[in-house]
Amino acid sequence: MKKLGIIVFVFFFFLSAKSQQNEFFFRFIESNKNTINTVITRIISIDRIRHDTVYAYANSDELKRFEKLGYKYILLPHPSTLNTKSISMATTIDQMANWDRYPTYEVYRTMMKKFEQDYPSICKLDSIGTTTNGHKLYVVKISNNVTVEEPEVEVFYTSTMHGDETTGYILMLRLIDYMLSRYSIDTQITSMLNSMVIYINPDANPDGTYMGGDNTVSGAIRYNANYVDINRNFPDPRLGDHPNGAWTPETQIMMNFASLRHFTVSANFHGGSEVVNYPWDTWISSSKIHPDNNWFINFSKLYADSVQANGSVGYFTDVNINGITNGGDWYVVAGGRQDYMNWWHHCKEVTIELSMAKTPSSNLLPNFWNYNKAALLGYLESATKGFNGIITNTSGNPVKAKVFISGHDADSSYIYSSQTTGFYARPIEPGTWQVTYSAPGYISQTQNVVVNDWEASVIKNITLIPEYTVTFSVNHLNSPVLNANVHFNGVDKLTSSSGLAIFTNIPEGTGYGYTISLSGYHTAIGQFNVTDNKTFNVDLVPDATTVYSVTFNVTHQSLPVANATIIFNGIEQQTPSNGTIVFANIPQGIGYNYTVSKTGYVTQSTQTDVSTNKTIDIDLSPITYSVIFTVKLLGVAIVDANVDFNGTIKQTGIDGTVSFPDIPNGNGYGYTVSKLGYKSVIGQVDLTSDKNIAIELLPLYNVIFNVSNQGLPVANATIDFNSLSQQTDISGSTSFSNVVYGMGYNYSVSLTGYHGITSQVDVLENKSINVELTPVGVLEIDASKNLLYSWPNPFNNNINFQFDLEKPSNINLSVYSMDGRKIAIIADGLYHEGLNTITWSGYSSSLNAGSYIVVLNVDKKTFSQIIVHIK
Ligand SMILES: [Zn+2]
Repeated sequence: MKKLGIIVFVFFFFLSAKSQQNEFFFRFIESNKNTINTVITRIISIDRIRHDTVYAYANSDELKRFEKLGYKYILLPHPSTLNTKSISMATTIDQMANWDRYPTYEVYRTMMKKFEQDYPSICKLDSIGTTTNGHKLYVVKISNNVTVEEPEVEVFYTSTMHGDETTGYILMLRLIDYMLSRYSIDTQITSMLNSMVIYINPDANPDGTYMGGDNTVSGAIRYNANYVDINRNFPDPRLGDHPNGAWTPETQIMMNFASLRHFTVSANFHGGSEVVNYPWDTWISSSKIHPDNNWFINFSKLYADSVQANGSVGYFTDVNINGITNGGDWYVVAGGRQDYMNWWHHCKEVTIELSMAKTPSSNLLPNFWNYNKAALLGYLESATKGFNGIITNTSGNPVKAKVFISGHDADSSYIYSSQTTGFYARPIEPGTWQVTYSAPGYISQTQNVVVNDWEASVIKNITLIPEYTVTFSVNHLNSPVLNANVHFNGVDKLTSSSGLAIFTNIPEGTGYGYTISLSGYHTAIGQFNVTDNKTFNVDLVPDATTVYSVTFNVTHQSLPVANATIIFNGIEQQTPSNGTIVFANIPQGIGYNYTVSKTGYVTQSTQTDVSTNKTIDIDLSPITYSVIFTVKLLGVAIVDANVDFNGTIKQTGIDGTVSFPDIPNGNGYGYTVSKLGYKSVIGQVDLTSDKNIAIELLPLYNVIFNVSNQGLPVANATIDFNSLSQQTDISGSTSFSNVVYGMGYNYSVSLTGYHGITSQVDVLENKSINVELTPVGVLEIDASKNLLYSWPNPFNNNINFQFDLEKPSNINLSVYSMDGRKIAIIADGLYHEGLNTITWSGYSSSLNAGSYIVVLNVDKKTFSQIIVHIK
């Protein structure tokens, strides 16, 4: 075993240089088919089976797992290395002229582009993805009007997902060339391109094919560059998404492409055997056969018959003499593309093995084309057999609909029409088929389709009628009517508690009649058209013979409430003084809404059923508000102030506030805010909302006036202050109490024989005011003229007085206090004409700081000025 491993190591040295992985080809003996189908096929990639010899591939990991099963196996030379000398490569496009060479990757690329360039109206090239090694997965689309999406059957050929199975690669290229060059020349080809859309992917695994380099197919491998067998990597209907591990790039690219297209028939091409292999691959036929098994056998056999007729003796007989096989019966494959396309894409895909040699000598390639040409075209044409057509809706738009054959379809064999064109094609064996066409939002349609023979192509276009939901909303006076019987479209339904009866799956149509009936109501009858989902509102009118009276008693705290507004049965009434109002002639019914409202009260809205005369008692609750008092003085909270409001006295808290909640709305609520030593505040408030009332509470003070003259108290002087008039007592004093905190209080002091005094005072605390009265005749200040100048003013140590005399005059210059007492005589006598200046000093220790009046008497005229002494 080890020895053999060393031999193979030499064989594959050029491969192992690229990767840790390797691809091995080997054979071993196993005659138990069940072991092959359940154990072995899950570990390695079986290529073919001859009697009890199994030929298989494996990558390094797979081979390790296989070895653990204990089989003796013989490593074989890799197939792609066997014909090295007989493989010639075309390094220019011209060298492909005779189709007896393999193209280099670059020549392949150029050929694909040239197809599109040479035949732009019938050929369109697309790359559907890029592989791990940077190769493109090319697909050509071949059809008339190739750039337009037409309602035609779509078919797909793809080859060489096993990279070393290269026969199909060349046949696909040649098929493309053949069809393009014979369009409008050859009747069959012209007809095919006019009625079908043919997609061809020549190489589904270029990384495998060109593993030996882009210039040769020698050294091609079965697996891709990640050493994954793509044909074991697709979702499997029996084993799920990933039979051999995560999806490799080529698998994902192909799955995406298949999802975007709408293939009816397809095939994937291989080498190593010569046989048409039809579904299923993952089940043996005794467990499950495809519902279209007869179809598959017929068209597989047509293919095999054709190639056997055109081929050399013995061609296409290595697996079965008739050239076809059920996939699972040959050997089970999980994760194959064929089953994926059949199961998930409702497509008819077979696997076609074209040649015993995987990579045949290039000079043999024209032979394989000659053997297979007619069969390749014939299998594509199978897509047009059976029945097909276009499915649209009543507006003529395409509809993606399911096409299901009763008694036949199962296991995803049903098909769908194309979302974009509405086209569908259902290849089927001859018979009379009951076919159901269905799509969400449409009425399903079942039709009989007769397919007379295998060549028949029956056209069955279908117009699907939309269906809608019709909702009846049955009400009376905006209240739902329960249990009304709605008869519509041949069905009876009762309305729900919300008055609804819902009918689904109603075909688009006109003149739908309905009948709605309920005891106690007039029956409603009508008709309408259904062209959309529809809600139909019906006002069910009560039968007039069954009426009752409904009496409302409206009270608040057991007292009747007048002028409350009641809306009931569409009528509005006001309660009279006894709070009771009657609504007469109310038809029997349920869910009558009513509303009772009155300004200042909470509105009540509810429902009642009327099946007898009835009285409804309504207890109205007034709307209430909260009232918050905030008591402060100059922004500072006043604690423990009494607030008397709505019959309750409360004290303010530390923040100066007190709250009265739940006060019924109303006008003229009085309040008193008081505190000892403060002036009480009395006010009123109207409550139509929550209120915040800010109160400024002002303190009260005593103000004492002391009146004197020359140091002696003056009794009976009149003090007018704070709107009061009081006389000083024998001690010259009088006291005013409860004077509100404030500024700019005026006062006047008067007494016959004295100069009256008027002044202002700020009361910001308890206060004593001393008033010096001056007897009349002592001093009258005429401040209207001023010939006297004093400086500096204010003064400190000395002050200068200046006056200008018109002629020599007797003058007197004296200083008085502000309350009229003479402080000092500065000058007295005859002074000369002109400017006189007198300086006064030497008083600083005896003179208080403050304002004084200096008075100049000249010839019975008096001039004065206020001077200010500062210390
Ligand atoms: Zn293969």
